[in-house]
Amino acid sequence: MEQALRNFIGGEWVPSTGTRCLEITNPATGDLIGHAPLSTAADVDQAVRAAHGAFPRWREVPPVERARYLFKLKTLLEEHFDEIATIVTKENGKTLAEARGSVRRGIENVEHACGVPTLMMGRTLEDVAGGIDCEFIRQPVGVFAGVTPFNFPAMVPLWFWPYAIATGNTFVLKPSEQVPFSPTRIMELVAEAGLPPGVLNMVHGDREAVDALLGHPLVEGISFVGSSPVAQHVYQEAAKHGKRVQALGGAKNHMVVMPDADLDRAVDNVTESIFGCAGQRCLAGSVVVATGAAYEPVRDKLVASAGALTMGYGLDDGVRLGPVVSRRHKERVLGYVEAGEQEGATLLLDGRAATVADYPAGHFVGPTVFDGVDPAMTIGTEEIFGPVASVTHASGIDDAIERVRQSGFANATSIFTTSGRAAREFRYRVGVSMIGVNIGVAAPMAFFPFGGTKGSFYGDLKAHGPDAIEFFTDKKVVISRW
Ligand code: NAD
Repeated sequence: MEQALRNFIGGEWVPSTGTRCLEITNPATGDLIGHAPLSTAADVDQAVRAAHGAFPRWREVPPVERARYLFKLKTLLEEHFDEIATIVTKENGKTLAEARGSVRRGIENVEHACGVPTLMMGRTLEDVAGGIDCEFIRQPVGVFAGVTPFNFPAMVPLWFWPYAIATGNTFVLKPSEQVPFSPTRIMELVAEAGLPPGVLNMVHGDREAVDALLGHPLVEGISFVGSSPVAQHVYQEAAKHGKRVQALGGAKNHMVVMPDADLDRAVDNVTESIFGCAGQRCLAGSVVVATGAAYEPVRDKLVASAGALTMGYGLDDGVRLGPVVSRRHKERVLGYVEAGEQEGATLLLDGRAATVADYPAGHFVGPTVFDGVDPAMTIGTEEIFGPVASVTHASGIDDAIERVRQSGFANATSIFTTSGRAAREFRYRVGVSMIGVNIGVAAPMAFFPFGGTKGSFYGDLKAHGPDAIEFFTDKKVVISRW
């Protein structure tokens, strides 16, 4: 049944004043789920003013009491865990197991933010000069905003706002317009947890809403996750308006397999990395750099394991590969497969014509594997964000590291090896931010920083972990003599 969505502003569910909306369908079944309102600058202004109005009282709430709202929310999220995961599958397409994993990762941020009384502590040094003491304290800054992508509808918003409000700020979330239902359900639970009105607000929308946030004088900082061109735009615009900004962008992740690795386990990991979430995650493997004698066996095992994946609706049992998010995104992925063929890569497994009999309207792309991918080819360079693997051959560890370093992105990479020396060389020289050693998806947990470098990240402080506390607080230094 169709659902009409509203914005969450000042503790109320408020209809958008805009006339535009986006139709949301289930990517596997094609069924209409509802419409996302595409809010106006006036809607954004209303939300920012609600957040701004709530800030003075909220910053005075003791951190331990602020944390108690998050403890309550954590309980509610656990009670509604499968319900939220199911909504994620229905609007995004990923399998239920993948959706459950992502909701779990989201909740871990709420748990970590509950530690705010400790996390937010400052430091003191007595006698910086005779009889003079110096301390720094952390204070909240004001109104922050978050803009998030389609691929992790529940998790990515939870990378930011729990830390922002735990540290005493107020927040406006602008979730992806393609997946508005899971963030809405979580916002309903926030309301149930009794968070004071205006502390956390949500405005549905697209570029118009984002630009209104970027230019709003009462917004102190922006946390963004999405594609690199938009991350760069957000970084530049936010900085132009004097705001703090952390902007996480796209990726082109290389998986290096050394000949001394356990090749079966390596290929299992690589397969999961590349085809999990239908390749729609910023940590997804994309280019397999098979090194030395690993090349032929890795290539052949990958084709076999990718070909064996069961594709279908993520709520059905046994499904390992769901659809991509939309028809438009499917066309984009298919465009990359065509470019790969035209530029001379060898197509070993072609998923373009793959269908799922029970779901003829689904946006399915079958597992696809290219061999002989050159770094100069489009598919060797650009982010595809679909279930497409590119295999390439490197002569040894130096050549493999060089191939990874050539990429304009530097989000995540992995090496599979039994050599500590090769692994050490790799982490020392590879220049990528999230590194897996015999791990295919090197996802930092909530208490570590998450984010890339180069074209994958614009800013300095990354998402969650210690960086979140830095990003959402200002350090004030007090020097005292009595
Ligand atoms: P996207 O850039 O299209 O959209 C992200 C957000 O920006 C959405 O909320 C959207 O409404 C808004 N937006 C889109 N175009 C805009 C514009 N021109 N101006 C202002 N705002 C705009 O990204 P997406 O397709 O939703 O998500 C997929 C991308 O996100 C991939 O590139 C993926 O690698 C990246 N991603 C990165 C990470 C990370 O940690 N680095 C995590 C998840 C996703």
